[in-house]
Amino acid sequence: MRLELDRVKFGPAGFPLDAPRQEAFAYLAKIGLEGMEYQAVRSVPKKEETLLSIKQDAEEHGILLSLHAPYAINFASEDKSKAKASVERLFLACKAAYLMGAKHVTFHPGYYGSRDPNEALELTIRGIEAVIGMMKEAGFSVELGPETTGKPSQLGSLGEVIDMAQRFDEVVPTIDFAHLHAREGGSIKRREDYARILDRVEDGLGGLDGLVIHFSEIELTKAGVGEKMHHEIGSGYGPDFKALAEEMVEREVKWLVICESPLLERDALKMKKIYQRLLKKRGR
Ligand SMILES: [Zn+2]
Repeated sequence: MRLELDRVKFGPAGFPLDAPRQEAFAYLAKIGLEGMEYQAVRSVPKKEETLLSIKQDAEEHGILLSLHAPYAINFASEDKSKAKASVERLFLACKAAYLMGAKHVTFHPGYYGSRDPNEALELTIRGIEAVIGMMKEAGFSVELGPETTGKPSQLGSLGEVIDMAQRFDEVVPTIDFAHLHAREGGSIKRREDYARILDRVEDGLGGLDGLVIHFSEIELTKAGVGEKMHHEIGSGYGPDFKALAEEMVEREVKWLVICESPLLERDALKMKKIYQRLLKKRGR
């Protein structure tokens, strides 16, 4: 199961900065963006009427939606009631996504805590399985996107999210390059570093098309490992978007690229321009 995309689409992580919320999708379309990740990170909207109007409005303006599920999800929690609540919470996020027409649900899988990483991974896989079961029972389906996470204490290495995807057709990871860079202690320095990651993703998932990508520049903690905060494109913190765009053009990928910089749609547009310039140069 993958998003069907005929080209790369860009959009912000959340409603745009420069337009009132009720005009968000019209505004994104007007400035040349084609996607958005709805941020349900603190609470999940439930009102069916609201969700259906989001769907209609997004469709009308050609905005492809994904949804970011609540941060408060931890399938590996030592507190059993929290692990159980995580299943319910992710299911409700999936239901909201389905109603608003978002086909991909990004989520952070959780924390290792004192658990062995393999045990935490297995518990997460069981949690995902439960959510898929609930969706089947309810008669709908959206793609589950465990995200590569930015802190070494969080479950969500590249290997782990690929492993989750290999277990279920319904799972396609959200690849967050800034997070990978941060959790690996600043691992993305040049184009070859992106190439190495993309080769692994391609091998693990059997192709690169239809992925949801998160991008921003990112500041590492003082210790040099793990994320401190997201920064704007061109801030100098890195990683560099242009080097990724070169790989995107070379590999002819079709992705939904979500910009997680504090400048949201302004930087999504900046990234689109960088990518398009390279496409032109290539004569594509
Ligand atoms: Zn995230």
